[in-house]
Amino acid sequence: MNSWPKTFLPAIASEFLIPPLHLQTRQGDRVFNQSDIRMYVCGITPYDATHLGHAATYLTFDLINRYLQAQGKAVAFVENVTDIDEPLLERATRDRVDWKALAADQIALFESDMSALRILPPNFFVPATSVMDLVSIAISKMKANGFVYEVDSDLYFDVSPFLQMLPISVEEALSVFSERGGDPLRQGKRHPLDPVLWIANRDDEPGWESVHGFGRPGWHIECCVISLRYLLGAEFLEPTQSDFLIDVQGGGSDLIFPHHFMSAAQAQALTGKPFSFSFVHTGMVGLDGEKMSKSKGNLVFVSKLLQSGVDPMVVRYALLDGQYDEDRMWRSELLTKATIKVERVRSALSRMEVAPTKTVIQEIISALSNNLNTKGCLSALDSWTTATELGETGGEAGELSRALDLLLGLAL
Ligand code: ZN
Repeated sequence: MNSWPKTFLPAIASEFLIPPLHLQTRQGDRVFNQSDIRMYVCGITPYDATHLGHAATYLTFDLINRYLQAQGKAVAFVENVTDIDEPLLERATRDRVDWKALAADQIALFESDMSALRILPPNFFVPATSVMDLVSIAISKMKANGFVYEVDSDLYFDVSPFLQMLPISVEEALSVFSERGGDPLRQGKRHPLDPVLWIANRDDEPGWESVHGFGRPGWHIECCVISLRYLLGAEFLEPTQSDFLIDVQGGGSDLIFPHHFMSAAQAQALTGKPFSFSFVHTGMVGLDGEKMSKSKGNLVFVSKLLQSGVDPMVVRYALLDGQYDEDRMWRSELLTKATIKVERVRSALSRMEVAPTKTVIQEIISALSNNLNTKGCLSALDSWTTATELGETGGEAGELSRALDLLLGLAL
């Protein structure tokens, strides 16, 4: 599927030192010294796009992408769209619309939001419904490797050999699993945490023909297959020198378990190799002191903000004003503050004479290299703006403008 239009990336002078990117992950400090990067980011389920939690997540991986490209690395970036899943079907039934039409509308809205926020598009933007044949092949391979069994025509993945990789305790996993689409209590399963791979067709639900019967895939196998196919090649097994199949598996912290754990276990069952060098998770975004959620009906949508006249660069600035891997609160004052800050930076950049720019650019680079410390970047920019307002000279506005665009995606 076509993704949104590419954004031009300006260059900055080679005199700037761009050190290796460090990200603090659950596996510890991850340093990206690889020359080529394979990054997979879990995409939306297209029924409620794009709230600020989504925007904060995709902005984070955009910053990683921009930083690595600024270093001259080749970044292969793949994102999926879960355009067949329970929540989508439930929403379509509730609103009495065709699930395909609902998905198409929401995908179009997501693309226009991403484009407005200057998020670099993925190299491959892959809907789950386009990979049914690959899912079927992958399940057959896993079956041959002894990881698949049947319960009343549904196929399950035997997760037991991977439970030592569980990111949380088994007790906790059991409770989270049922909250997030799992079925720990189903009779006939070998282990309560085993996830479904192929769901045999139920009345009126969409389905696809396959050697495993008429049905549809579970959620985790979809991302496993898309990441391996589009980052590693057709047969999932293109030789790679790396100890891991890919370099970055990304998404919101609500995906740590079960989704990322299960996809990684399935990829390992399929290839025999550990899945990802790093698992990078973004914190949740709440609203006015409360969790932002569909059930509370308090989601803030990017499209609504933009329709109300908010500048997308102000939204981007406001999202940068928080640490990506911490939970945070969205308040309307953040937008007010960002509007004032963006105006001041624009005004400073338009002056004939500006404060020295090399130091602030180097500070922004260093802050980003240190676990994407975007608040540090904005604070450095703030000091530069104040210095310019106070009449300091010796900088070059164009140089800073290009660096802000390249590194932070702020076109000011
Ligand atoms: Zn995923």
